[in-house]
Order: sequence, then structure tokens, then C-alpha cells
Amino acid sequence: MTAIHKAGAPIEETPAVDFDAIVIGAGMSGMYQLLRLRELGLRVRVLEAGTEVGGTWYWNRYPGARFDSESYSYGYSFSQELLDEWDWSEQFSSQPEIQRYCKLVADKFDLRPDIQFSARVASAHYDEDGQFWMIALFDGTRYRARFMITAIGLLSAPTMPRFEGIDDFQGPWCHTGLWPKTGIKFHGKRVAVIGTGASGVQAIQEIAKTACHLTVFQRRPNWCTPLHNRPIPKEEMAEIRAGYPELFQLCRETSACFIHNIDPRGTFEVTEEERLAFWEERYAGQGFGIWQGNFRDMLTDREANRLMSDFVANKIRQRVRDPKTAEMLIPKDHGFGTRRVPQETHYYEVYNRPNVTLVSMLEEPIERITQTGLRTSAQDYEFDIIVYATGFDAVTGSFDRIDIRGAGGQRLKDKWTGGPKTFVGVTVDGFPNMFMIMGPHAALGNNPRSIEYNVEWIRDLIRYMQDRGLTVSEARPGSVAEWHAFVEEKADGLLANEIDSWMTGVNMNVEGKQTRTIVRYSGTAPEYRAKCNDVAAGGYRELSFI
Ligand SMILES: Cc1cc2nc3c(=O)[nH]c(=O)nc-3n(C[C@H](O)[C@H](O)[C@H](O)COP(=O)(O)OP(=O)(O)OC[C@H]3O[C@@H](n4cnc5c(N)ncnc54)[C@H](O)[C@@H]3O)c2cc1C
Repeated sequence: MTAIHKAGAPIEETPAVDFDAIVIGAGMSGMYQLLRLRELGLRVRVLEAGTEVGGTWYWNRYPGARFDSESYSYGYSFSQELLDEWDWSEQFSSQPEIQRYCKLVADKFDLRPDIQFSARVASAHYDEDGQFWMIALFDGTRYRARFMITAIGLLSAPTMPRFEGIDDFQGPWCHTGLWPKTGIKFHGKRVAVIGTGASGVQAIQEIAKTACHLTVFQRRPNWCTPLHNRPIPKEEMAEIRAGYPELFQLCRETSACFIHNIDPRGTFEVTEEERLAFWEERYAGQGFGIWQGNFRDMLTDREANRLMSDFVANKIRQRVRDPKTAEMLIPKDHGFGTRRVPQETHYYEVYNRPNVTLVSMLEEPIERITQTGLRTSAQDYEFDIIVYATGFDAVTGSFDRIDIRGAGGQRLKDKWTGGPKTFVGVTVDGFPNMFMIMGPHAALGNNPRSIEYNVEWIRDLIRYMQDRGLTVSEARPGSVAEWHAFVEEKADGLLANEIDSWMTGVNMNVEGKQTRTIVRYSGTAPEYRAKCNDVAAGGYRELSFI
């Protein structure tokens, strides 16, 4: 039904169109960067592969796609008018609403005239003599710009599993991250969902409601916890609106920019009764509270993590009727919170339905996709529709799909062999005037809070250059090495580092990503911002300028 785009050479060359800055991507990052660069009087063009704004919320139209962040903590904070105008309808709004929000932002700030849609960037090469980036689309259109800002997303390069015969299947099939705009109807159909990560969990809950039969193929289970979504009545939205300044202040203070913050107590500093009561309260609470608002040692102390994992395992046993299925759904290879925690609404109860079957791909590996379904080591299955919920080539994947070459023709992909190296997640030595939003080793978490910070930091840096007549900036190699050492120091002792996941740079479906690397900054966001603020206040000594 839909195929994944592969990087390759542009078809043919055309004369280059000149801009001061090219921004790649029109999601939350690219839209805001455009707005802030306009303030500097720059001629900016945003190049976006999709046909609308929204990024994640444009592509991921699968049933059940919604926020894990509380809606009101996710929206942009920069415009009071926008905050006044927009009402969120649910604690965790769904994709159609979020995309409507993104479109409103584009219209309200008149962003569309500077965004070129259906424009997928194939290559970006830096010209040292001319001090510009030459950026080419797959259709051959070329752009020349002094600054190149990547806003290409950390979860925006979908990956398919490496099964034989993927194209053989005669029915509709689709990746959750490339969902067709026309939608897919599951009513009365035999459906396979392959993958049980965050997207799979969201999709499975919805598809099970209408499919004639749903077969879920699970490679390994994740620890899923209740989202506890609910509508936001008008009066409550008015209260949330009145409290926005405090809410965004809170997000500035928490470790990962969520409204939830780590509990300062250690797991063993409270009695067993207090501990269980706390976990019960967190399990009954909403969103990432149970992950981001747990005891401070839950993700570093093995015994604390084991107790927490046992607590959640027992919840799964209570919710799934068939004990064998319950055991299949309980992770045995990683502790709670050491991989991203999918949030669910009656996910476990799905497996109590007569129209749902769970198949473990560890016990019964998929051997190939066939014309009518798929074949495992145990049997042939027939399906009308196959859904691949197999995730993304995270963090560096969208960079790898562009042929980015810096000074001396050095490829970014080669430079990042063995793991990315950056200065504050925004710049890379050898890649002058290239800035990244949501780049590797920048603070993430509840992303828009970090996006707004990064965008403004980049704007301030370019303004600093403008004010002094500087044309080129580049991270000093020593600054990159220092930042890398800091990132490594922050990752030290985390149980998550012992686990294969996208957060440790592992993706079994992507060649060369079988070894764990540190792709994520795991210090706190306030600490990250303090470091970046110091760089700006100190006159960007960590960068060199021409
Ligand atoms: C299903 C899902 C749910 C999520 N839920 C949350 C959540 O609840 N809270 C949270 O904080 N984060 C969440 N995230 C992470 C989410 O990606 C970020 O919150 C945010 O959307 C990132 O915005 P962005 O603009 O940086 O990247 P994206 O939204 O990924 O946008 C990147 C854009 O760049 C474009 N692009 C990429 N490569 C090219 C190219 N070569 N040429 C042209 N265009 C290109 C893409 O088409 C895309 O539109 C979720 C992610 C997914 C996939």
C-alpha cells in the first residue's frame, strides 16, 4: 500500500535558488524555527517531504495515535494569543486534533508562503570556498543557503522489518508511521499487527474493536501503563489556561520537561506499605507520572527497579485472564522504565477478547510474508490486512537518509559511525553553519519545551553573528569532545544503558545499528539549558567564527 522512501542521488541538476537559511522539516521544530528566523530578516525556505505541516502528527494517522504528554503541556508556549485561542479537548489529544492545531499555527503565523511541501531533501553539501550549503531535492531542485537547519525529527524515519517477501502480500499493508490519508477500514477483516512498541500498543487497542480477528505478533513485550485519558470540559480548560504561566514554569523545572517530576525519595527510604501505596497512586494516575515521577533510584538501582517491575507484572497478571498470555506480555529481558513506556487504555484487556490472538515471535519467528498472509516457523496465517508497527530508525535515522557532507566532503554518516558526536546536540565540528533541532545529545523529554529552547538558542547565535558581521560558525573539536564526555558521564549508571532499544541506538532492522551507543542525553533539561545559556553568555567561545 505504501512504500518507504529510500535515499539516493537527485535525478537531475537545476540552477540553485538562493536563500539565507534552509530549514528541513515542517513539524513543531521547523515551523517555530521559521518564525524565529523571520525576526532576523532572513530569507528562509522550509523544505518538507509531506504535503502539510505537523511532522509526527501529519504522518502517524494510525487509529489510536495520540499524545503521551498532557496536551496542554505540549502546545507551543510562545504566543499568548495562541494559548488564548486554542482549547484542547482531551488530557491526551488524538492525532487529528493535534494536526488541526499544527495547521492553525501555520495559518495564524502565515507560515505557508515560506514552506515548500512535497520537497524531500536528498543531499546537502557544504561548499567551503563559497561558504554555503547546496541542498538538493530528489526531483533535482537545488537551493543555496548560508545556514542549514535540520528539523527532521527524532522519530521520523520509519523502518520495516527485514522479512522476505514483504512485497508479495496481495492485500493492503502499511507502516503506522506512513498511514494513508484515506484511512484503512478494519471492520470484518482478518488483521495482523506486527510490533508492540508505543505505536503498536495504541493501534492494537483500536483495531481490536472492529476487526473480525486480530493477530498480534510480538517480538518482545514492553511495560505498558495506563494513560487514564479523559475529556477536558470547557471550565477545566479555562482553569488550565489561567494556570499556563505556572504550568510552563513547572515544565522548565522538571528533569524531562513533563508536568511529572522525579520523587526525591529513594525506594528503600520508605516502608513497604508507603512504597506500595505510592505505586498504586501512580498506577491510578495519568500519563508518564509512573515513569517520570517515580522514586529517584528506580532507573539506577537494580533492586528498586526489580520491585517496581514486579509491581507492574502483577498488574498485568490481574488484568489478563489467560495466565499463559499474561506471562507472554510480561517483559523478562528488561526492567520497568528502561525502555520507553508505552501508555495504554485497556491494552491488556484486549487479550481477553475472543477476536484477538497473541503470537510470540521468539517462540514462533516469522519466516516470510506470503501472498495471503505470512508464514511462521509453526504455520501459515491468512490475513486481509497487515500493519507494520515496527517503529523508527530513531534519532540519527533521518540524518542518515540525507547525504550530508561537511567541510572537505566528509559525510555526517561516516563521522557518526560508532555513535553521534555533537556540541550541545545543535552543532557538529566540520559541518559549519549546520544547526540541528532535536539533534542527538540535546535534551528531549516533553519535546516542544526543548524545541522552543533550541530554536531560540539557534536564533540568538545567528543574531550574534549578524551583529558582528560573522558569516561562518563551527563547533570546535575540543568542545564536541567535552560535550561528549559530559553526555557519557550523565549516562553512567543508568540501567537503560544495558538494554537494546532505540534509546541506546539499537535497531535490529537497520544495518549497522546492532551495537549499543549513547544517542541520548540523559542529564536533566534544566542542566542542559544552564550549559547552553553559559555558552551564549560567554560569547560562544566553544565555537569558532569567520
Ligand atoms: C507516534 C508518536 C507519538 C509521539 N508522542 C509524543 C508525545 O506525546 N510527546 C512528545 O513530547 N513527543 C512525542 N513524540 C515525538 C515527536 O516526534 C515530537 O514530539 C515532535 O513532533 C518532534 O517534532 P519535530 O518537528 O522535531 O519532528 P517531526 O515531527 O518528526 O517532523 C520532522 C519533519 O521533517 C520532515 N523531513 C524529514 N526528513 C526530511 C527530508 N529529507 N526532506 C524533507 N523533509 C524531511 C518530515 O517529513 C517531518 O515532517 C511522538 C512521536 C511519535 C512518532
